[in-house]
Amino acid sequence: MTEILRVENLRVEIKEETILEGLNFSLEEGVHVLLGPNGTGKSTLLGAIMGLHKYKLSGKIYFYGEDITDLTPDQRFKKGIFLAYQLPPSVRGVRLRDILKKILNIDPKKELPVEIYNYLKSLDLDESFLEREINYGFSGGERKKSEILQLLLAKPKLALLDEPDSGVDIDSLKLIGEALRKIAKESNLLIVTHNLKILDYVAPDSVIVLLDGKFVYKDGLEIIHQIEERGYNYVRRLVYAQNLS
Ligand code: ADP
Ligand code: MG
Repeated sequence: MTEILRVENLRVEIKEETILEGLNFSLEEGVHVLLGPNGTGKSTLLGAIMGLHKYKLSGKIYFYGEDITDLTPDQRFKKGIFLAYQLPPSVRGVRLRDILKKILNIDPKKELPVEIYNYLKSLDLDESFLEREINYGFSGGERKKSEILQLLLAKPKLALLDEPDSGVDIDSLKLIGEALRKIAKESNLLIVTHNLKILDYVAPDSVIVLLDGKFVYKDGLEIIHQIEERGYNYVRRLVYAQNLS
């Protein structure tokens, strides 16, 4: 199996506060779920992989064996990394249509590819959605669908999905789940979720649990049921035992 991502001794600080410390892990091709309690640093980790500027970072991040630690988010995007935000930011004056053209590197005067109309339909979105200012006044579900629409068009090598199912109703969850199933055929996925329902649509190859911003526990699907039954303290004990030996 090809290794797509490697994180070595990653440390991230935000405003003098250490959020992530000494993280080491790697991902092979496929679908991976990132679990962990609230506030443990999952979003920070995805942001660090995307190279968001607000973090002070040390350690190394490799993408398909290439050191990308010093690349900008734009450069990482061009290498095939895409981040679907937990809380997608709104941008006044920029329409979704403009963003999609930028993602696809299309001349602003040219039309979007016709496949977009199938994608809109599959997400139960109206064509007029494209004319709206990005995320401005969007409902929670619309924000998530807009991210998924971008992802469908971007076809990245690695999609980082930060709670694609949060704040989404049952019908929309189904549409997003089906879109993710399609995306998983072409892209590798790292999905943060608390709602394991989404795993009915994409079958993960591995589960990564982030604890206290310091420990990464990697396992197969079985661990999900253990966490459901016994909570994160169960994994915490496993991790501490591992580190003692
Ligand atoms: P998770 O996604 O696992 O819930 P986050 O990565 O969002 O966790 O946050 C991890 C920790 O970092 C939290 O304690 C959070 O308050 C803190 N944090 C995240 N972003 C910022 C920020 N911009 N400023 C200050 N603290 C932050
Ligand atoms: Mg988060």
